Amino acid sequence: MKIPFLNSGKSEQAIDPVCRMSVDTGNPVGGASTHAGQVYYFCGPGCRVAFEKDPEGYLSGEKSIEM
Ligand SMILES: [Zn+2]
Repeated sequence: MKIPFLNSGKSEQAIDPVCRMSVDTGNPVGGASTHAGQVYYFCGPGCRVAFEKDPEGYLSGEKSIEM
């Protein structure tokens, strides 16, 4: 599998609010979701789905993903 790596200097990392992994905001594997005016990025589709079900739960730290 080819992983594109564009070192344009615009690559930034964000923290997946569900599993706390760092995600490349330029190419988020799980996509992005906007909540309360803030954009969140996800390491995988599963994290995005979980977050969209209960964004407040993950943002408050009450919930975390069960591995
Ligand atoms: Zn994740």
